[in-house]
Amino acid sequence: MQKDSQIIKEVNEIYLWLDEQLAEIDRSCRACGKCCDFEAFGHRLYVTTPELMYFAKHVGLTIKDMPSGVCPYRISGKCSVYSYRFSGCRIFTCGDDSEQEHQLCEQAIGKFKALCEEYNIPYHYMYLKPGLELLRSGDLEKS
Ligand code: SF4
Ligand code: SF4
Repeated sequence: MQKDSQIIKEVNEIYLWLDEQLAEIDRSCRACGKCCDFEAFGHRLYVTTPELMYFAKHVGLTIKDMPSGVCPYRISGKCSVYSYRFSGCRIFTCGDDSEQEHQLCEQAIGKFKALCEEYNIPYHYMYLKPGLELLRSGDLEKS
């Protein structure tokens, strides 16, 4: 669908913008994958509608279930979908919770919300588990 393709293209542009912004911040993430175990780490990953659309497009139709508090895309301690990971995965670092990161998070969410308004799709900002469930149901853009 033309609309979906355009949304996915725009999400890619937002991620490129985000990665450029993050490259300018001194950050200490070692990509160890510990924070992808949300239960153990005391962390939660929230995702938005356009990001879920982008994720499904690139990761494939077989979206995984999330039976535990661990992201199902963490395989052997590493992110198996690193190029397509969500903005929250890109921004979060465990070393500090800097004001810059907080502002980037707000800006990124604002961009994803604006995309939903522009393309008239429902705006969701939800924990990864229900987000993956919504993707699996096929109702992401209907609800
Ligand atoms: S933010 Fe911290 S816990 Fe998460 S992957 Fe990076 S170094 Fe590991
Ligand atoms: S998508 Fe990758 S980086 Fe994000 S929580 Fe899952 S395993 Fe971690």
